[in-house]
Amino acid sequence: MKDMAKFEIWFLILMVCGLWMVEAKYMVYNTSQGIVAGKLNVHLVPHTHDDVGWLKTVDQYYVGSNNSIQGACVENVLDSLIPALLADKNRKFIYVEQAFFQRWWRNQSPRMQNTVRQLVNSGQLEFINGGWCMHDEAATHYIDMIDQTTLGHNYIKQQFNVTPRIGWQIDPFGHSAVQAYLLGAEVGFDSLFFGRIDYQDREKRKAEKSLEVIWQGSKSLSSSTQIFAGAFPKNYEPPSGFYFEVNDNSAIPVQDDVNLFDYNVQERVNDFVAAALSQANITRSNHIMWTMGTDFKYQYAESWFKNMDKLIHYVNQDGRVNALYSSPSIYTDAKHALDESWPLKTDDYFPYADRINAYWTGYFTSRPALKLYVRMMSGYYLAARQLEFFKGRSDTGTTTELLADALAIAQHHDAVSGTSKQHVADDYSKRLFIGYKQAEDLVSNSLACMVESASASGCKNPQINFKQCPLLNISYCPPTEADLAPGKKLVVVVYNALGWKRTDVVRIPVVNKNVIVQDSNGKEIESQLLPIVKASIAIRNYYATAYVGESPTSSPKYWLAFTVTVPALGFSSYVITSGKQAVSASIPQTFYKTDGSQSDAVEVGPGNLKLSYSANGGKFTQYFNKRNQVRSSLEQSFSYYSADDGSKDDWKDLQASGAYVFRPNGSFPIHPEGKVPVTIIRGSLLDEVHQNINSWIYQITRVYKEKEHIEVEFTVGPIPIDNGIGKELVTQIQTDIKSNKTFYTDSNGRDFIKRIRDYRADWNLQVNQPAAGNYYPINLGLFLKDNNNEFSVLVDRSVGGSSLVDGQLELMLHRRLLHDDGRGVGEALNETVCALGKCMGLTVQGKYYMRIDSLGEGAKWRRSFGQEIYSPLLLAFTEQDGDKFTKFQVPTFTGIDPSYSLPDNVAIITLQVDEDKDLSTTASVELKRLFPKRKINKIKEMSLTANQERAEMEKKRIKWKAETPSDLRDVPRGGPVDPKKLVVELAPMEIRTFVIDLSQSLPAAESWKSHMSL
Ligand SMILES: [Zn+2]
Repeated sequence: MKDMAKFEIWFLILMVCGLWMVEAKYMVYNTSQGIVAGKLNVHLVPHTHDDVGWLKTVDQYYVGSNNSIQGACVENVLDSLIPALLADKNRKFIYVEQAFFQRWWRNQSPRMQNTVRQLVNSGQLEFINGGWCMHDEAATHYIDMIDQTTLGHNYIKQQFNVTPRIGWQIDPFGHSAVQAYLLGAEVGFDSLFFGRIDYQDREKRKAEKSLEVIWQGSKSLSSSTQIFAGAFPKNYEPPSGFYFEVNDNSAIPVQDDVNLFDYNVQERVNDFVAAALSQANITRSNHIMWTMGTDFKYQYAESWFKNMDKLIHYVNQDGRVNALYSSPSIYTDAKHALDESWPLKTDDYFPYADRINAYWTGYFTSRPALKLYVRMMSGYYLAARQLEFFKGRSDTGTTTELLADALAIAQHHDAVSGTSKQHVADDYSKRLFIGYKQAEDLVSNSLACMVESASASGCKNPQINFKQCPLLNISYCPPTEADLAPGKKLVVVVYNALGWKRTDVVRIPVVNKNVIVQDSNGKEIESQLLPIVKASIAIRNYYATAYVGESPTSSPKYWLAFTVTVPALGFSSYVITSGKQAVSASIPQTFYKTDGSQSDAVEVGPGNLKLSYSANGGKFTQYFNKRNQVRSSLEQSFSYYSADDGSKDDWKDLQASGAYVFRPNGSFPIHPEGKVPVTIIRGSLLDEVHQNINSWIYQITRVYKEKEHIEVEFTVGPIPIDNGIGKELVTQIQTDIKSNKTFYTDSNGRDFIKRIRDYRADWNLQVNQPAAGNYYPINLGLFLKDNNNEFSVLVDRSVGGSSLVDGQLELMLHRRLLHDDGRGVGEALNETVCALGKCMGLTVQGKYYMRIDSLGEGAKWRRSFGQEIYSPLLLAFTEQDGDKFTKFQVPTFTGIDPSYSLPDNVAIITLQVDEDKDLSTTASVELKRLFPKRKINKIKEMSLTANQERAEMEKKRIKWKAETPSDLRDVPRGGPVDPKKLVVELAPMEIRTFVIDLSQSLPAAESWKSHMSL
């Protein structure tokens, strides 16, 4: 009875409503409109931009914790999205960051997964970009960009059998040539969209209607890598007033219920038409795109879709413009269907400034320690994958998966860029460390299996226990620091991840002076002891405690340096024993101290390369290579930029130097404090020059007997801030090269791009920031040249660099800042490290390498040595008792045919056309000799991220027309691979990706994916 009563009451209320609200009814909005020819088509592209860590960590963003920092929960976005899409089949959405999507996907029921698959199949939900994150484009190495994109693309392929076709780099702070041609065209993308280009460039492009271009990022591969590229008119948000996030202060919903106050349909339609016409004024053709969303939006997706439903309905009723649900794919196809020509864009979009004093060139160097860690892990990941392949994958549980995940996350445009909050930067490091530990087990295990048995496959529990030393750069390496009792041996296995034989000097810390190094045949190897200086020991103790959690117990006194020779993709073993007395292995050192009173120059360098130091002042002054007679003056110095705090600016233009922005207000040379002694340590393998520049800068310059470049190791920090001013430390190297404002910097470690000081090819540059506005991202290096010589500097991580004076190159090594730069991170970039009961500003240690060549000779060194920097020799240690020690079953190994070496110009870092006369020609790789013990069953050429066959990709990929006809000469590309000969041809700058089925000596057929590049 009670129920009956309720029914009657409801009925009554409904009747009453029916009388009052004559107009109120369920409204069906017509959202089915497609493109209409002859009208201005407004493509509404619903999207969310989900940073893979920034103010919160990736997991906090996903689950929506720590919301006092930022109210953001990606799980809510994806949860609310699906019902909103199901509510109307015309609604569309794009999703980008697979690090988030995969977190969500794996928790869904089979039913929900099925629903989502249907939404993907119908095109309502489209994956674009599709990498693990939206990677940064300045501080990233191209191998990392490929790896993180491949990781996402493979998941999308497996789960949905689709291949993303659009690049969507809407937030990174400037855009690289490698992004356009390699991570765009070579991935198979038809177009690429982004939000951030220089404000001066954007104004000119708006005026000329050239925001949308055909971008040809590669000189070598020229028109074959053209891609349609669109810069947005403002940013990646909707036009002002069309923002519909739930609870947002600025939202103006479309109110179309006449029974409520503030009915606004006509105003909203007028606003829409006005905003559309304004955008049409700066865009070619009658198609414009509205990016309907921004950071972490659609947490209540219905709020956006309901308003867009109404807008599409009423705007199309109005008829002045045509509004439609769209996607970047539909928009791209519409642009292509016009069959028009577009302006041609070459090179890149660096540096980026968003207003007059705001050059986003500080982040090229921000968090230099994290940047090095990412680079070290990248090289290690490459080596670990090779060892996993050689040993054969087994089910021991150790893989490289966690490292792959951590590295992919670290490529995000607030991660390796150094622009996240401190707790998030710590999270990136933690993930890398966890990934490293797993990969370290895999590496140790693989090496143990491989030295124990010639057929390592299937090996699970090897006897030998290898240890590695990730903190070797700060001279912390417990396995080598043990005092070798008589009869004990330290065995070092050295792995080379490069495709050619390599001879190098490695160094390990030791406590004992009397040591002998032998190769695996028992032959004594030349070695040299170098003292570990006090400054290094202090850093070692402090940082080892901070990172490992306990103070080191031993204290090594020397670096033991010795020469190793390691075959291609293989290893060699060396044995270190304590000698009864100091034998010939350790050559007595000579120490010179100049106190500034001597007038003669001091020469260092045991080989062809000679450096002269002026005794007065202790600077190096002359560079001379005996072999090729190249000579130049050379002077290196340090200075710092004082960071502007923005206090003198109008409140409107307030701009401090910060994590993103480099805004100096003065430059101050650093003069050594008093008479700084220069200590020279000479030896048979190398000479070292030590300079304690001041209380926070220490420098060691090394000249090797067998190398023709200078290695500089700097230790910088803590940068003093006691005068309340942030500082950005740079080093300058001055030569006598007449560079005439011109220098060259790499793009993501690959091509070199010509830069001219105070000049941009695309517009007439107004110079407001002569230092910051001439900074470029450096991943591999930079160089300058004149008619005789070229001067190159290569780096060990991404940094900012420039040439602000003719003949001079400048690198920014470290920055410590006290103000936020107003771009959202909300923290000053003031990194500190706590240990031993105190906290100090971060000290950074690193290396750069420099060399002067005659004109035309430098490219070879930049390419081959750059590759050695990326893939340093991997060292693993094990201690053995003298009695038990027998030689390893397999003391040396090469993964390829021992008589084969990859051609000189086949490497991972490569050359561009005309760069080097010998090396920029087509090269061949013989696969049979690359996989000597395996049978190649099948070989398939794939797209760069291996998610589709290359031929299929070529067939599908849209061809665009540029207004400026591009070079019509045939673009050199390697031809198809003959299945009998199995020889892969590589043209200059080409990267080819193959999936190869191998069998025979392996238990089961195994598929191996290989990127080969020239
Ligand atoms: Zn972002």
